[in-house]
Amino acid sequence: MTELKLSESRDLTRIERIGAHSHIRGLGLDSSLEPRNVSEGMVGQAQARKAAGVILQMIKDGKIAGRAILLAGQPGTGKTAIAMGMAKSLGLETPFSMLSGSEIFSLEMSKTEALMQAFRKSIGVRIKEETEIIEGEVVEIQIDRPAVSGAASKTGKLTLKTTDMETVYDLGAKMIEALGKEKVQSGDVIAIDKASGKITKLGRSFSRSRDYDAMGPQTKFVQCPDGELQKRKEVVHSVTLHEIDVINSRTQGFLALFTGDTGEIRAEVREQIDTKVAEWREEGKAEIVPGVLFIDEVHMLDIECFSFLNRALENEMAPILVVATNRGITSIRGTNYKSPHGIPIDLLDRLLIITTQPYSEDEIRKILDIRCQEEDVEMSEDAKQLLTKIGHETSLRYAIHLITASALNCRKRKGMVVEVQDITRVYSLFLDVRRSTQYLMEYQKEYMF
Ligand code: ATP
Repeated sequence: MTELKLSESRDLTRIERIGAHSHIRGLGLDSSLEPRNVSEGMVGQAQARKAAGVILQMIKDGKIAGRAILLAGQPGTGKTAIAMGMAKSLGLETPFSMLSGSEIFSLEMSKTEALMQAFRKSIGVRIKEETEIIEGEVVEIQIDRPAVSGAASKTGKLTLKTTDMETVYDLGAKMIEALGKEKVQSGDVIAIDKASGKITKLGRSFSRSRDYDAMGPQTKFVQCPDGELQKRKEVVHSVTLHEIDVINSRTQGFLALFTGDTGEIRAEVREQIDTKVAEWREEGKAEIVPGVLFIDEVHMLDIECFSFLNRALENEMAPILVVATNRGITSIRGTNYKSPHGIPIDLLDRLLIITTQPYSEDEIRKILDIRCQEEDVEMSEDAKQLLTKIGHETSLRYAIHLITASALNCRKRKGMVVEVQDITRVYSLFLDVRRSTQYLMEYQKEYMF
């Protein structure tokens, strides 16, 4: 592997689903990092949001790498919501990846390989690619839509756009002559060297409405005085180390990024990539962008994983690690020792800890309001009051689940607005944890042992 392959990963798109946290659009802080009461989908939890904002600022300033933050608090107090808020505020340029502690126990790869991949998904590489810049007369031609006039209309499907209108018809005819009618399609981007008359197909424009910029920022096709046609390009690729790993380790290359079937990546491949990236950095061709790795339910990791994390954080390219747990003093998996949050003391010692607090009734009400809006559910005032009470006495998450269920119940009875009757109906249909436990205690002997 002498040359690293990069270009294939350019068109990756991120897909986002409407889910439990889709209403969160940021941390809801003002410019001096003070939390607004209700903002960007976030409610209350002022101290924790403020602390997360400070960390975020440090990440944006590039001041920290290899730090770790622990979000600790009772279930449903917004730890994941805060991590999502951080991700949204970072923007797409900074990589953010998340996984749940239990996800790494799979048969497909070792625990430490899964963690290594997660780490490298959270480290961005910004690579500048430049090619020669040559002065010359610019001739831009785009075959855009079915033809209406001129030489192009001879083909019945072409129209040309160029800065040099006088040559359009002439060029159109030459283009067909050089490339053949069947090789030229609507949307093709073609350049022609006026001096030599050489015609080159440069690619396809991505969309009919867009023009040359679709080929990449600052792309210009330059016609040179000496007749040599040159392409000038200054493009910045943003990729993650994991993407570079995958592209260079499998024959099917970037497709594995879509299927997720990346398998284990050999240590030599990673070493070669690290060396190459280090070279690029020295030459000023690349920059490292440490992102954020969020591990939820961190108490599900075992002692091997914790020692991996300890070591990985020492690496100079390490991302910011954010972990969350709702556990108190509990066993460290894989040992007989107990420790706060089930995390070994030496790792705990390097964590900055942010705690989340239980919500007041008023805050629960506001979160439920936001979720109703997010799910497009109309709910009467009485029903909201009842749901708030349920949320306060059971859990916020349970109350959020009842929104969807009660809306379905309402639709079934052909209602437009969710009423108290819908809430009571689904409350009796679906148990919360406390009622379910109570039920189990009463009927335990009926179950299998
Ligand atoms: P667990 O410990 O059980 O994983 P958690 O602390 O991570 O819980 P979340 O999953 O973040 O809790 O919160 C439960 C639900 O409430 C989610 O849908 C979340 O988006 C929403 N939520 C929690 N806190 C807030 C908040 N401050 N503002 C808006 N929505 C919130």
